[in-house]
Amino acid sequence: MQKRVGKVYLIGAGPGDPELLTLKAVRALALADVVLIDDLVDRTVLAHAPQARVVPVGKRGGCKSTPQAFIEKLMVRLARRGAVVARVKGGDPFVFGRGGEEVLALAAAGIECTVVPGITSGVGVPAALGIPVTHRDMARGVTFVTAHTRDGSGPDWAALARTGTTLVIYMGMQRIVEITAALVAAGIGSTPAAVIEHGTTAAERSVIGSVSTIALQAAAAGLGSPALIVVGDVVALARQAVPALPQQRSA
Ligand code: SAH
Repeated sequence: MQKRVGKVYLIGAGPGDPELLTLKAVRALALADVVLIDDLVDRTVLAHAPQARVVPVGKRGGCKSTPQAFIEKLMVRLARRGAVVARVKGGDPFVFGRGGEEVLALAAAGIECTVVPGITSGVGVPAALGIPVTHRDMARGVTFVTAHTRDGSGPDWAALARTGTTLVIYMGMQRIVEITAALVAAGIGSTPAAVIEHGTTAAERSVIGSVSTIALQAAAAGLGSPALIVVGDVVALARQAVPALPQQRSA
């Protein structure tokens, strides 16, 4: 009898609201023997994989978490044993999610991997608040940037300020004071800015102001991770009370 060959589905679970999972993600979860789930992902998505064993593999910035190399080895080992593995990440797996590293590691080990894209928080979270990350009259584009780099160096904030694009800053809360100071020094202190924590979830909280005020506003509101800092004229389009489609309540 032929040995069963395992594989990995690298799945983006979307920005937070479990209803923002794609139909393809739901189908892949239903096929899984094992689910490796990141801590940004709402546990209710596991309802789509009642047959699977669940392994939490948190990777929160700064906190104690499962080392990346361990996660990669675990996926390879499980797939080699014939398991169908669903690796579930927040947002899109290839946007600051180390999905690229995992795909390379799986390819090097000869394991088949299918990528299921997800809605990245940098687009979905502002959208749910009524902020279009691009708008013909206001932003010629959007730049996704992380404040948290492997070598500890930050991006060139002055150069980013000059692009005229909306800036969507991931993992920026620990350095929000330095980031906004650099943007003020670059001359965009009066540009609208928002900080949105736990966007698209029941725990969502946000503050809206300008680049020069937003760090203080976020601190006063006690906002922390996971949050996005959004900078650009489009932030002025945010609707304070967005009539959202209510989340589906499980019975
Ligand atoms: N792959 C993910 C990003 C992972 S990096 C994606 O595509 O969205 C983790 C960072 O994403 C957090 O520090 C935060 O900046 C942002 N983030 C993820 N989910 C978020 C949410 N629901 N609300 C606000 N920011 C979020």
